Amino acid sequence: MSQDQAATIAVRAGINTDKHHSAVVPPIHLSSTYRLHGYDQKGEYDYSRSGNPTRSSLATALADLEGGSTGIVTNTGMSAIHLLCQLLNKDDLLVIPHDCYGGSYRLFTHLHQRGLFRLLVIDQTNLDEVRVAMQQKPKLTLLETPSNPLLRIVDVAKICELAKQAGSLVAVDNTFLTPLLQKPLSLGADIVIHSTTKFINGHSDVVAGAVVCKEPQIGEKLTWWANCIGITSSPFDSFLTLRGLKTLPVRIQQHQQNTVSLVALLSEHPAIDAVHYPGLACHPGHQLARQQQSGFGSMVSFELKGGIEAVKCLFDHLTLFTLAQSLGGVESLISHPSTMTHAGMDAEAQLVAGIKPGLVRVSVGIEHIDDLVADLTSALDKCLTV
Ligand SMILES: *Cc1c(COP(=O)(O)O)cnc(C)c1O
Repeated sequence: MSQDQAATIAVRAGINTDKHHSAVVPPIHLSSTYRLHGYDQKGEYDYSRSGNPTRSSLATALADLEGGSTGIVTNTGMSAIHLLCQLLNKDDLLVIPHDCYGGSYRLFTHLHQRGLFRLLVIDQTNLDEVRVAMQQKPKLTLLETPSNPLLRIVDVAKICELAKQAGSLVAVDNTFLTPLLQKPLSLGADIVIHSTTKFINGHSDVVAGAVVCKEPQIGEKLTWWANCIGITSSPFDSFLTLRGLKTLPVRIQQHQQNTVSLVALLSEHPAIDAVHYPGLACHPGHQLARQQQSGFGSMVSFELKGGIEAVKCLFDHLTLFTLAQSLGGVESLISHPSTMTHAGMDAEAQLVAGIKPGLVRVSVGIEHIDDLVADLTSALDKCLTV
C-alpha cells in the first residue's frame, strides 16, 4: 500500500455508509441495544459491547491500513495489550523486550508472578539473545520498535523469521509509527497493537487502543475474548478516533517535517550532549529504520550536558512545549523519562536501560516550526551555564 492509498483509506473510512439518511459522515450510534426483527431474528448488531456500527467503521479502517483481516477496538492501549494475554496458557512462554512500554512491562510481570504464563525478558536488538530465546519455543513474542524513550530499532522481519521457525506468534506494538510509517504484518508479524490514544486519534482527547490480526482465526478468537471480558471501546471514543484518523496522513507529514528541523537544532546546540533520533545517520538503528520504516517519526529524545539542573531550567523556560506524559497529539509535549514515564524503575535499572537524569523526550507537534525553533533555542540558550 502506498502512502496515497493510506490517505484514501483514512479519509474514506465510514463515508457513505448511512443507509437511513444518506449522511456523508456516518452518525454516532450511542444505543446500547438493538431491536431484533422478530423471534430468533437478530440483525447485524444486538448489544453494543459485542458490536457497534461506529466502532466497526474504525476497526475496519485500522485493519485495512495495517493490511490485516480483523480489527478490534479496545477501551485503552493497555486493554489491547492485555487482550494478547488471552492467547497464552499456563505453561506458555511470552518473550518481551526489556525496554517495552512501562505499562506493558508492569502488566506482564505481574500476571507472570500470578502464574498465568511464563515470561522471558530480553534485549531484542541482540539477535543472538533472540535466537537463544527461540530455542525455548515461545508461544508469543512481543516487539516494540522504535522503543521508548531512546528510539532503539529492532529488526522486525528477522525476528519474525526466527519466531516462525520456532513456532511463535509475533505481535508488534506499532504505536510510535502507525501503519503510515511501518507495516509489521507485511514484515511477517501476526498481530499489531496500538495505543490509539497517541498518533491515530492524534488530538489528546481519547484514551483507547486497537488490535489488528493478520489471520481471521486469531481475529475471531480475540474478538470473542474482547466481548467476553468487556474491553471494547465506547461509541463516542470510536467516533472521535475515526475523526482523528482521517487527518493522520497529513498530520504525520507535518510532524516529521517539524521534527527534522528540531533535530538539526538539537544536534548543534552546545547545551546538548546527545540526540536520539533514528533519522540521524549516527543512530545505531538508522539503517534498519531506513529498511523497515517509511519515515523516522516524530519522537525524539536528547541529553542535556547540565543534567537534572539543566532539565529543570529548560522546563521553566519553554512556553510552546507542554510538560506532560503521552505523545502523538497535534501539540508538542516534553517529558522527563526518569521521573515521569520510567519512574517505576529504580536508579540502577534506569542506568542499565540508558535513561540518564539529563534525558528529555519530545513528542514534536504540528505548531509552526519557526515558533517551535525559537522557543526551544531561547530556552536552551538560557540553560547553557546551568
Ligand atoms: C501509551 C502506550 C501504551 C498504553 O496505551 P494507553 O492508551 O495509555 O492504555 C502502550 N504502548 C505504547 C508504546 C504506548 O506509548
